[in-house]
Amino acid sequence: MVEKFDAIVIGAGPSGNAAAYTLAKQGLSVLQLERGEYPGAKNVQGGIMYAAELEKIIPDFRDDCPTERHIIEQRIWLLGDDNYIGTNYRSDAFNTETPNRYTIIRANIDKWFSEKIREAGGLQICETTVTELIHDAAGKVIGVRTDREGGEIHADVVIMADGVNALLAKRSGYQKELAPENVALAVKEILFIDPELIQQRFGLKGDEGVVIEIMGKVTKGMVGTAFLYTNKESLTIGIGCLISDFKQGSVPPYKMLEDLKNHPVIKPLIEGAEMKEYAAHMIPEGGYKAVPQLFGDGWMVVGDAAHFNNAAHREGSNLAMASGRMAAETVAELKKAGKPFSAANLAAYKARLDDSFVMKDLKKYLNLPGIMHENKQFFGAYPDTLTAAAHNWFTVDSVDKRTKEKEIMKSFVKKRSVLGLVGDAIKLVRAVR
Ligand SMILES: Cc1cc2nc3c(=O)[nH]c(=O)nc-3n(C[C@H](O)[C@H](O)[C@H](O)COP(=O)(O)OP(=O)(O)OC[C@H]3O[C@@H](n4cnc5c(N)ncnc54)[C@H](O)[C@@H]3O)c2cc1C
Repeated sequence: MVEKFDAIVIGAGPSGNAAAYTLAKQGLSVLQLERGEYPGAKNVQGGIMYAAELEKIIPDFRDDCPTERHIIEQRIWLLGDDNYIGTNYRSDAFNTETPNRYTIIRANIDKWFSEKIREAGGLQICETTVTELIHDAAGKVIGVRTDREGGEIHADVVIMADGVNALLAKRSGYQKELAPENVALAVKEILFIDPELIQQRFGLKGDEGVVIEIMGKVTKGMVGTAFLYTNKESLTIGIGCLISDFKQGSVPPYKMLEDLKNHPVIKPLIEGAEMKEYAAHMIPEGGYKAVPQLFGDGWMVVGDAAHFNNAAHREGSNLAMASGRMAAETVAELKKAGKPFSAANLAAYKARLDDSFVMKDLKKYLNLPGIMHENKQFFGAYPDTLTAAAHNWFTVDSVDKRTKEKEIMKSFVKKRSVLGLVGDAIKLVRAVR
């Protein structure tokens, strides 16, 4: 006889874990299937974890969650060829009992989260790839098929939390292929280093941490960003650009990461560190316009598989957890009310999302991906001109300041023309409003 559960969750990343935990906590029978050898084995994240969403799911998570450092300082740097211009925000107020953001190592977090799911009564099976959704004659999803022998399992509802590729939704015709301009490829390394050096180089004590978000010449004019984060005994460094740009460019991702590590501003921060782990992964960056159909008869899609990623703020795992939780809450509510898991009833999931920061933020940055994709000057001409302007301004050479101002203005007009500058300002406002 085919086994049947209230819900099947496919994937044990943040979205699947949030869904499975919430369902198990509400007393539903839940089966979570993960293709990796263990939860986190296949997962890649920078990563910063945002406490607010996890706190909604597991309020006392700080008691035993294996976080790295709590973030007290955010730096945003625009790199030129051998320099940077940037801004920092550091506050002792982030040194609280309940910090807001942490650096993490994903494999550790995923394992910890999975333990919580099992404690809550959820059943989790790893090394099991879901190969397809099973539909009844009317087209309703009634279960999944896996790569295990006799691997057919039924459920009232299936939650797809299988990440950016969203293969199962594609195979069932619920999603189209990802457009190369809507997805970034990121590579990252974890570099082991003496914690003393981290404290000294970044001015930290205890578990305090610094994160640096990076733009500029390091992406070679492609739409992309880089990052450097402090962990307890390691640094995470990475860089990612749109796949459409990689296709046209001549610099492969691993070379970009090497160049970033050798940049004169970055090199002294990572000197003496030893590479422990290298990983590459895709990030959905099409924003609001790329969000697919989110539910149907007997199914829902959450997290990266639903294209929930706010590239402007490098937020992904929190949108993943929020959507997983909201999908599970919708399921639990319908179950309690004895209502069927029809598309009409599962629409309540979308209503929840629309009312939350997930959709509100994606909607706010609706135009950002398109504008960045079509205006490469933001990744090439501006980093050059801005860093050169800063160099001129901060060089004291007996040239009067009025003349310097004129020289700087001229350099911008030469690069972009007056009309170009005005146009770029308008585009930037349209991209972020
Ligand atoms: C380099 C990089 C840096 C990032 N930095 C940050 C950051 O600092 N902060 C942040 O919030 N976000 C960051 N993100 C984004 C964040 O990692 C994602 O948004 C988040 O992991 C999405 O969670 P998810 O559960 O939806 O998908 P995933 O984490 O991708 O999990 C999907 C899971 O499903 C499993 N799976 C897939 N297919 C199947 C199948 N057929 N059967 C069974 N299991 C399957 C996979 O093995 C995986 O475990 C970063 C991403 C990358 C690539």
